[in-house]
Amino acid sequence: MKIGLMGGTFDPPHIGHLLIAEQAKEQLQLDAVWFLPAKLPPHKQSTVTSAAKRLELVRAAVRDNQDFSVSEIEFERETKSYTFDTIRELKRRYPEHAFFFLIGADSLVSLGTWHRSEELYKEIEFGAVARPGSRYLIPEGARVTAVDMPLLEVSSTDIRQRVARGRSIRYLVPEPVRQLIKEWKLYAT
Ligand code: ATP
Ligand code: MG
Repeated sequence: MKIGLMGGTFDPPHIGHLLIAEQAKEQLQLDAVWFLPAKLPPHKQSTVTSAAKRLELVRAAVRDNQDFSVSEIEFERETKSYTFDTIRELKRRYPEHAFFFLIGADSLVSLGTWHRSEELYKEIEFGAVARPGSRYLIPEGARVTAVDMPLLEVSSTDIRQRVARGRSIRYLVPEPVRQLIKEWKLYAT
């Protein structure tokens, strides 16, 4: 099977993440997309929301799609979630699958700074989408297939700010995610 891996902090998951997964599934002919919430994202100082809650948010976001699921592999380790380690482990556990790592242009631009990036390029192919405010630069040595999707100026940062200001995030996040954010009073100041 061909599996897309959708990595992220997902604080919170939003329609951009789901759109990447859906468009990549169609255009790269993937059988499924596995969401990989990072327990300890290496590139972020800290997350606003606990790892356990972000995991629940991602579960809620993909619940209604049979082809999307959540992998807890990065929660098995106490250390930082390096994509290189995760992919090595997934390939070891599922030698029968072909994996594609899905990313937005802002991540694509910084791929070269990722842990063991040169080796990572040899391990996996990428599917990358454009993102407003980011150049679409393919690092030398990386195997990248462009995935087309409408430019979407949505980010978790913007959603957190909207909640903090008491503004609506309806339709920016899946409805079950919105409900959990409300119930847990996330991002409120
Ligand atoms: P934050 O603002 O907290 O960084 P984010 O919206 O960037 O959140 P992440 O969890 O950091 O979400 O991103 C996970 C992946 O999704 C990254 O590869 C990122 O590039 C991609 N992504 C997120 N939102 C978009 C978007 N609107 N368009 C294209 N790619 C996106
Ligand atoms: Mg981000």
